[in-house]
Amino acid sequence: MKVTALPPGSKIGIIGGGQLGRMSAVAASRLGYHVHILSAEADPPAQETAQRVTIGAYDDEAVLRNFAQSVDVITFEFENISAAGLDLLSSLCPVHPAGPVLAISQDRILEKTFLSDSDIPVAPWISVPNAASLEDAATTLGFPFLLKTARFGYDGKGQFRIADQAAFDALNRDLPFPLIAEGFVDFERELSVMVARNASGATMCFAVTENQHRDGILDVSLAPARIPVLLAEQAEALAHRIAVTLDLVGILGVEMFVSAKGELLVNEIAPRPHNSGHWTMDACLIDQFEMHIRAVVNLPLPDPYRHSDAVMKNLIGQDGMDVCSAVLSGSGLALHLYGKTACREGRKMGHVNALFPLGALPGSFGIAARFDEALGVGRDPQPDD
Ligand code: AMP
Repeated sequence: MKVTALPPGSKIGIIGGGQLGRMSAVAASRLGYHVHILSAEADPPAQETAQRVTIGAYDDEAVLRNFAQSVDVITFEFENISAAGLDLLSSLCPVHPAGPVLAISQDRILEKTFLSDSDIPVAPWISVPNAASLEDAATTLGFPFLLKTARFGYDGKGQFRIADQAAFDALNRDLPFPLIAEGFVDFERELSVMVARNASGATMCFAVTENQHRDGILDVSLAPARIPVLLAEQAEALAHRIAVTLDLVGILGVEMFVSAKGELLVNEIAPRPHNSGHWTMDACLIDQFEMHIRAVVNLPLPDPYRHSDAVMKNLIGQDGMDVCSAVLSGSGLALHLYGKTACREGRKMGHVNALFPLGALPGSFGIAARFDEALGVGRDPQPDD
């Protein structure tokens, strides 16, 4: 299919004004595009990097209408906008990724249904529409299992683990239904793949990334993941298949587990730039934000030219802010702050990228630990550290 690219000078609307919008706007302006941000919150981090910002509710028809009429294409950094809002935007302006892709990623039951129907391996799951269906979940999945809210869960929020029969019996059944129950995966590692696809159907994948979480929030990403080449190829193939099946236009983060048996299981998809892709900002010539913008305006998606291995560490809350001066004086470390004034516990304030020579990360044990030493912060030890 021959689709022309939007020329430089065109206006890109981004829904959401957080750090992902902020960094997307930088990438867009570097390519000569103008960015208009729509943010529901005042003083959004993206206001410092975008040409225009509207503060307004994502369900306010007049706000959405004016926003859509002011731009040539719309994309997202935040996917929880209502179906009605999306329909309105799509009737006025091209929206990438399209509404159905967003709808799938907004609802864990739709997401797991889509993945299972597409023969993408996932953990065993069952939908739990009400209290009466909790018994089914326990019988089908066994213990331990996880209960997650079907909608609006992120960073491990709205998720709890039922360890055994005693915990199940003690469970308060007054829960925020609908829920999804998932078998607990005793994973060996967590991975993610960023895959981009443009309207002409071209696709590209960044190197498979290994992710470590702390308190349900991403802590550290290592790229490339310390896994065999064959497994990395399988992970990329899964991400590619998901992007094509969704008819994606934009970038998509695919989160996966490597099970104890070495199998890949997809946990979640996020059709936007993703925290686990932040390492690309310093280790690649074309980063995830530029690749996202390229996909949305239908520019080519060439090899990103990864020139380094990388470790990304999130700077979270005051602890994160406290290491900034050490990062600024450390060599081989790049600091990215998001311009957030209020520093709350658990809030992502910025991140640091540490670069290593190509090939250093998988083979050189302890390299990530050295990075931690420079920052003065701990990281969960891994079996191959
Ligand atoms: P999520 O909210 O689905 O992104 O999950 C947040 C984190 O919880 C994941 O990155 C995993 O560390 C953990 N997690 C989620 N689902 C499962 C599962 N089925 N089994 C084991 N751990 C899980």
